[in-house]
Amino acid sequence: MRRTEYPEAIRDLITQLRQMPGVGPRSAERIALWMVRARGDQPEQIVRAITATRQSIRGCNLCGFFATGEICEICADAARATAALCVVEQPTDILPLEKTGAFRGRYHSLGGKISPLDHIGPEDLRIKELLDRVDHENISEIIFALPADVEGESTTNYIVELLKEKPITLTRIARGIPAGGGLESADELTLSAALSGRTKL
Ligand SMILES: [Zn+2]
Repeated sequence: MRRTEYPEAIRDLITQLRQMPGVGPRSAERIALWMVRARGDQPEQIVRAITATRQSIRGCNLCGFFATGEICEICADAARATAALCVVEQPTDILPLEKTGAFRGRYHSLGGKISPLDHIGPEDLRIKELLDRVDHENISEIIFALPADVEGESTTNYIVELLKEKPITLTRIARGIPAGGGLESADELTLSAALSGRTKL
């Protein structure tokens, strides 16, 4: 006898949901069944929220953080110190640093790190945008907060080489940020200590 399964539409939905990070087969099944059986229109509300968010959110023209307009809330904040710029790998690294309260300058996310094995070269990152900012903003210190792995190191070194003739102090946050995990996985105290213990390059 053939094993009974959910109708194809439900199985397809489960397959789609499983593409989401952190959603395993059991969760995907539970969410799909909830969506099918929901009495109200919450599933439709979720669909609308996904569409609206994807249409309205873009990368900030300056720093690469999430924005609804040309520039993000951080870059638009006139009260922020413009002298210090913190360079991070991903836009998702910015909020963990913000939460420490130890840094009140601005940020620049590169959107990745130089990784020949993954065919990611300097031209694939927002390095040109960084150099533009250095030329147009009054920056006196650049703090590198890239991962402490091989790719993070070579990315830092590559940019330091480009900037070493500029009248800017180049520093890096203290070691202690777990390699691979990124800034997201570091706790506030560790990050705060890493920022205040930064060293000259
Ligand atoms: Zn920004």
